[in-house]
Amino acid sequence: MNSILFLNPVFKETIWGGSKLREQYHYDIPSDTTGECWAISAHPNGDCTVKEGEYEGMTLSGLWEKHPELFGNCGLDRFPLLTKIIDARENLSIQVHPDDAYAGEHENGSLGKTECWYILDCPTDAALIIGHNAKTEKELEDMIRQGKWTEFIREIPVKKGDFIQINPGTVHAIKGGIMLLETQQSSDITYRVYDYDRLSDGKPRQLHIEQSIDVITVPALSPQDSVRQAADLPANVMNELISCDYYKVWKLEVTKPVSVEQTHPFLIMSVVEGEGSVNGRKIAKGDHFIVPDGFGNVDLEGNMELIVSSIK
Ligand code: ZN
Repeated sequence: MNSILFLNPVFKETIWGGSKLREQYHYDIPSDTTGECWAISAHPNGDCTVKEGEYEGMTLSGLWEKHPELFGNCGLDRFPLLTKIIDARENLSIQVHPDDAYAGEHENGSLGKTECWYILDCPTDAALIIGHNAKTEKELEDMIRQGKWTEFIREIPVKKGDFIQINPGTVHAIKGGIMLLETQQSSDITYRVYDYDRLSDGKPRQLHIEQSIDVITVPALSPQDSVRQAADLPANVMNELISCDYYKVWKLEVTKPVSVEQTHPFLIMSVVEGEGSVNGRKIAKGDHFIVPDGFGNVDLEGNMELIVSSIK
């Protein structure tokens, strides 16, 4: 039988990153400005390696190429998902992602980017930027070209355990103090709309005004339709948070022994709170693994919270 794949994360230093990936998740991060842990990734900008067992040392992209049977022979040209933990010590730039059609045409055949967030930790009175206040394309263009940022930017209050789907065309930004788990299409294409006029090495970071105006959806989804509360869902069952063209995501809180039948091409599991075991192997907050095709029952025990994802 195929065994569970544990991976070594890849860390990304960013100007807005912090040190909570060490303090809260005990990762061996490279600096106190580490913004991202790419926990499950086969993307060329951060390709995780297998931590142990038969495939130890292989990259996830290599494993995907050579052993498609582990992933249900699903016929896709690359490992389709990327799971990250983000530690935003400071605000991230305000950005938007293209869809597959726009990215394929304008970004060398790259995938577009649909992503979703599960809030792991945040201060009281935290907010995210999701959507915008422009009502028409004309208003959108005016606000962006004339830098009417206070009118344009829409902040929505969030708390620990909230879940947010970010479809392509959705303006979004993580604000300082928030930690979240992101499940996304394996793509790195981001258009920066506004960066709070910050300087990086003495210069403003590049903005992508034309592309942003091209891809931003007008009007934005309502605030009520943008955030789902997922903190207090029933324990010991797979609670579906989203099902879209690119992924399904569930939350699973374990408080007694639970058996989940693996009926998907593969399952990505991230332990985001607590500790326990999977089929007898110890796991704890910060562990991420892939349950391969045909694994059978995933037996979980302990007291922990997991975010689980797959492609269908
Ligand atoms: Zn994004």
